Parts: sequence; C-alpha cells; structure tokens
Amino acid sequence: MARALGISGLGMLLRKVNAWQGVINLAYHRIGETLRRPFDRALWSATARNFDEQMRFLKKHFDVIGINDLGRVLSRGRGRYVLVTFDDGYRDNYEVAYPLLKAHGVPALFFIATGFLDRPKAPWWDEIAWMIRLSTAEYLPSSPWLSEPVQFDEPWRENAIRTVAAAHKALLPGKNAEDFLEFLALALGTGRYNDPNIAESWMTWDMVRELKAGGMAIGGHTVNHPILRRLPAEQQMEEIGECGKRLAAELGQPMRWFSYPFGGHDAFDEQTRACLRKQGVQFAFSYKSGFQRFGDWDQFNIRRVPIEWEINHEWFHALATLPQLFC
Ligand SMILES: [Zn+2]
Repeated sequence: MARALGISGLGMLLRKVNAWQGVINLAYHRIGETLRRPFDRALWSATARNFDEQMRFLKKHFDVIGINDLGRVLSRGRGRYVLVTFDDGYRDNYEVAYPLLKAHGVPALFFIATGFLDRPKAPWWDEIAWMIRLSTAEYLPSSPWLSEPVQFDEPWRENAIRTVAAAHKALLPGKNAEDFLEFLALALGTGRYNDPNIAESWMTWDMVRELKAGGMAIGGHTVNHPILRRLPAEQQMEEIGECGKRLAAELGQPMRWFSYPFGGHDAFDEQTRACLRKQGVQFAFSYKSGFQRFGDWDQFNIRRVPIEWEINHEWFHALATLPQLFC
C-alpha cells in the first residue's frame, strides 16, 4: 500500500490537499549502522543515510516544528506539523543525528536519562543482547525465570534476544530481575558486561550543552530508566525530581518536557502525572503509536510514532502522508 501511494502519485496529491490536521511526533532512539554492534538492534531507528533522507522529506513537505512552537501550534489548532524527538541520550544522537538535524534546520527534542550520562553503563536491554550474541552456547537452558529453553536463531539471534528481554522486563523492578541477569551471565558463559569503554555509548554533558546551544531542546527521561508505574509514588518522585535537578544543574534550565521510559499504556499512571505537574513539566510524551489530532490533546500523554530501522522510504513517506492509516 505504501508503495502504491508512491507510484501512483496519490501521495503527492494527498500531501497537497491537506488530508490530515495535527502533529506527528516522531520518536527516534539511535542513528547508525546496527550490524556492526552487539547491542540491542531494536534501538536503532535508522541509518545515517535514511535519517538524512527522512529529514529532507519532512522539511520539503511539512511544517517541522520545535517543542517551543508547540504551544503556539496548539492554540492555532490547524495545519500539519512534525516534531522530531530522541530518547535516552546515546552518543550517536550527538555524533550522527545532530549534524544532519543542523544541516536540515530541524530543531529536535532530546530526552535524557541522566543516570546513563552520570554513571555510564550498559542498560539491561543492551547487556542481554550482548550476552546472547557473544555466547558460544546454542540455546539458553530452562530456569526458574523461563520454563522453556530458548533456542538461538542464527545468525543474529534476534528472536532469542526479544524473548529473553521480554522475560526480564516482566520482572522489573528489583532483585529478581537482577538475579535473572546474573543467571544469564553464568548460563551463557559471558559474564556481565563490564567494558569501561561503555562511557563512549553515551553523550557527555558537554555534548548535551552543545546540542542546546545549537538550537536543540533537552527534556527529561528519569535517572535510571525504570517502568515508573511499577514504582511507589515517592520513588517515582525521586526518579523525576532528580532527573529535573540534574538537567537544571547542567543546563541551567528547568525540566519542561519529559518522555516516559518504555512509554506504553502500562508505563505511567496518575501518580506519575502528579509528579510531573509538581515538577512544572509542560508536556510529557508517551510511546503510544499514532499522530496527534487537534482537539484530542492530553498534555501528559502526547502520542508519538516510533521510527524503526525496518521503515523504508516508501513506508516513511506513507506514514507522514496518511498518518490516519500508517502511524
Ligand atoms: Zn528510553
């Protein structure tokens, strides 16, 4: 269908006749080549080349806004807008995405999990991917955490990584999840990930300040990237409040924008909203797929469209052209 839109010229027509009104908030994580890295490939949203092409297309056909324009756009209540966002704070955001954003004049919004910058480590999703890819085992034996053995689908073991990561996510937060990682390290024979070069996976605060000075916006994404809804209220407040404090200390501005880690409907609750309100956050973004129509706004649950590396040009053009159908 996406291809048909491209071939028939229908896409161009639809873009001209104003087929939809609202804001498409695009959610990216990492930009670059996935195949050379042992980490979680689901985090790579596009190659540098595809990202470049996507930004060129957006600038040509849409009104690409920054977060500071959102208030004005909402009160206007008509038009077609696109906002580009990034989650987590991976260094390729600075090294690969930022030069392209600057070249195209796209003011993106970067949500930072401050703990990754302050105490760099491999997050559990990257550590699990690393363990399974590097393991010389052919499968993960059954355990108290996973009753069936997990066969490794060669050569990339992607399905195995998805299965084990989902099992780990279900255990969060707490000791049981940590015990599961220890079990994996032993059963897979890799040990835990402890390469000190992991700091190079994350931006430094100097890089974040450079993004800001270059016209990008910076928002919060907690300290430790937890599933907020599973934490008691005071811990939620700590994750959100400390994140805000670190951003204020490093950037000299309060945290006004936020994105929920994992971001699905089970990632946050009323307590989370109350914490954000107390912190003075103006807009909070979820990871619920879909574009935002005017008149259907919830300032603490703004929908985003996840961009993943499988999305080719035709698909990307289709989702921006007919978000009602493709987002
Ligand atoms: Zn995240």
